[in-house]
Amino acid sequence: MTTSKKHNVIFLDYDGVISIPSDNFKENIVNEQAIKYLNQLCLDFDFDLVISSSWRKYPKYKDLFYSFGIDKDIKILGCTEINNKGRVEQVRDYIKEHEHEIDKFLILDDAYFPGHLGEHCVQCPPNMGFTKNKYIEALDKIQNI
Ligand SMILES: [Mg+2]
Repeated sequence: MTTSKKHNVIFLDYDGVISIPSDNFKENIVNEQAIKYLNQLCLDFDFDLVISSSWRKYPKYKDLFYSFGIDKDIKILGCTEINNKGRVEQVRDYIKEHEHEIDKFLILDDAYFPGHLGEHCVQCPPNMGFTKNKYIEALDKIQNI
C-alpha cells in the first residue's frame, strides 16, 4: 500500500491577486507586496500552489510564476485543467480528483466562489490584490477550514 502525502493547497489566480492592474491587462506587473504575503502564508503554513490563472496555459507557467518572486521552497503542484469550463468548476474538479491528496485548501482569486468553495475563498479586490487585510483574512480562514 502506498501512502501519498497530503498537501495544503492554495489555488492561485494571477490578475487581480498578485499583479498590479493596468488598463491593458497584458501590461500588468507583479505586485511585490502581494507576493511577499503569499510567500509568508505558504511558508508559515506549509501550503503548496495549484495555478488556476489563465497564465497556466503558458507551457513554462511554473518557471513564470517563480520568476514573479514566488519562493523556490514553495512547491507548484500543477494547475487546474484547461478546458471550456468556468473557474469555479475547474477548481471544484481539481479538488474532486485530488481529494485524497488535499488536506486544507484556500482559493486566492478576485472572482467570486459560491457555497462551500466560498468558505475557502479569499476574494481579493481586483485593483489591490492580496493585501495585508486579505492576508489576515486568509489566516482567519485557515483556522476555520
Ligand atoms: Mg483574476
